[in-house]
Amino acid sequence: GAVMAAGEAVSGAGLVAEALRAQNIEYMFGIVGIPITEIAVAAQAVGIKYIGMRNEQAVTYFLFFLPSRPGVCLVVSGPGFLHALGGMANATMNCWPLIVIGGSSDRNQETMGAFQEFPQVEAGRLYNKLSVRPSSLEVIPAVIEKAVRTSMYGRPGSCYIDIPGDFVNLEVNKSSIKYVECCPPPPISMAEHSAVSKAVSIIAHAKQPLLIIGKGAAYSHAENNIRKLVDLCGLPFLPTPMAKGVVPDNHPNCVAAARSTALQHADVVILLGARLNWILHFGLPPRFRQDVKVIQIDICAEELGNNVRPAAVLLGDINAVTKQLLEEFSKRPLKYPSNTEWWKKLREKIKNNEERSKALALQKSLPMNYYTVFHHIRELIPKDSILVSEGANTMDIGRTMLPNYYPRQRLDAGTFGTMGVGLGFAIAAALVAKDRTPEKRVICIEGDSAFGFSGMEVETICRYNLPILIIVVNNNGIYTGLNADNWKEMLQYGDPATCVPPVSLLPNSHYEEIMSAFGGKGYFVKTPEELQKALKASVADKQTPSLINVMIDPQSERKKQEFPWLTRSNL
Ligand code: ADP
Ligand code: MG
Repeated sequence: GAVMAAGEAVSGAGLVAEALRAQNIEYMFGIVGIPITEIAVAAQAVGIKYIGMRNEQAVTYFLFFLPSRPGVCLVVSGPGFLHALGGMANATMNCWPLIVIGGSSDRNQETMGAFQEFPQVEAGRLYNKLSVRPSSLEVIPAVIEKAVRTSMYGRPGSCYIDIPGDFVNLEVNKSSIKYVECCPPPPISMAEHSAVSKAVSIIAHAKQPLLIIGKGAAYSHAENNIRKLVDLCGLPFLPTPMAKGVVPDNHPNCVAAARSTALQHADVVILLGARLNWILHFGLPPRFRQDVKVIQIDICAEELGNNVRPAAVLLGDINAVTKQLLEEFSKRPLKYPSNTEWWKKLREKIKNNEERSKALALQKSLPMNYYTVFHHIRELIPKDSILVSEGANTMDIGRTMLPNYYPRQRLDAGTFGTMGVGLGFAIAAALVAKDRTPEKRVICIEGDSAFGFSGMEVETICRYNLPILIIVVNNNGIYTGLNADNWKEMLQYGDPATCVPPVSLLPNSHYEEIMSAFGGKGYFVKTPEELQKALKASVADKQTPSLINVMIDPQSERKKQEFPWLTRSNL
């Protein structure tokens, strides 16, 4: 600041913090180090909540849709930045807003082999809607406003801002800075009127209609209008995994338990904010009818027509377009009858599937199976819990067994199938819940493998004293594991380095001790009675983080042939 003329000076770090605050950013998650520690300190000084985490991927895997603004992640140069790429990709793939701020090496050392030097802006381009380095301190507020706006407008995604190390402590006079006002929330776009009438007449002629609710509907807060549409028109509906709860899972028109049948036989599909990607089997036979008429509703024009040529396209915000449909239906009332062959077929399938899961849930044999575990969880957790879930079977079976009654309260491995997201999501969800809905609990249900990716974030949970309940559904491995009582004998004839099955993890691992190591409560359970007791105790204790390590049958995957419901066909 020696060359500074009259007027107030501000450092690069201070400028980044103030600019974020001006854009209404509330939360910053990060791991500090050279050169960005000062940015975290400056963020706290302007009232941004800074949460220090343990691994950059977990940093970027945080909750996206409770606050109306993007969250910000702060990472160091080189390796820190590289670890965060997975999170940027995950956010962009899932269409949710994220801002990553990465420190980078000093400008005057570029190409000299500086500490942690890496072409970060170039590397960031593949994963972000915008990847930029401000050319001077003066433009930092303008660059931050553009990143925040770009992350939220259109199809949301991740944006990367590169801050050279020498910017952090450099000072400028405030009078030379290009300040920019807070960017408004995204403008709301609506569908063309003719497309709306076309959609309405297609729906009116449908014999076997199906409404598919995707997470775009959750992002656009369309729950009230979609609920009205379902009730008004009597349509069967099916949520995608993270759209569960937009309309409650116990709504009589929910056909989630007859998913395959509903997809396979629907003649008209109304697609509300979901891509026809792998999650929806590309909209193609044999999972869909060849002649299915798709009414596609999306905010992203480039998405329209992917894999299937839609019968009608409604480009716009889900909530606004749903309102347009409702208006049209108020002029041309339509109520799909509840006594059709289609409803009969769906209801029979639902009944059948529910009975099969129930039979499995009530099995008394030990070790427990997935269904028994989820049955007890469902009985004992509060209905308004925020559910975070990841793992293979743990996530897939958990999705069918654990209902959601509220929108935006289920988070999982998502479009990109990313494992390791759970603890980061849970931490962010718990922080936001603490500020906005303190009565809501966060329950994080992890496979043992999934838990391993970010297990050290348990320390973060305990440091911030977040009353998260982690349940590790432990089958000693990835998909399947070895039996705890005889695995050593099984391996004794070979060199452990070559004969341990690649899918197995250490049998009988006491993950609950990771929680007790940091002062939370850990439970190791093997029976339904122990599980119930641990669940009751941890649900009742609203102050303390806890982890229940539930030992289940490590071979349950083997039942695949005899019990086809354990296959991943319902993914
Ligand atoms: P799911 O995983 O539930 O199938 P996808 O992530 O495949 O959902 O699709 C979500 C879709 O929602 C994306 O195509 C995205 O463009 C769209 N979308 C996001 N926000 C909105 C919004 N506010 N209005 C309309 N569509 C949206
Ligand atoms: Mg496992």
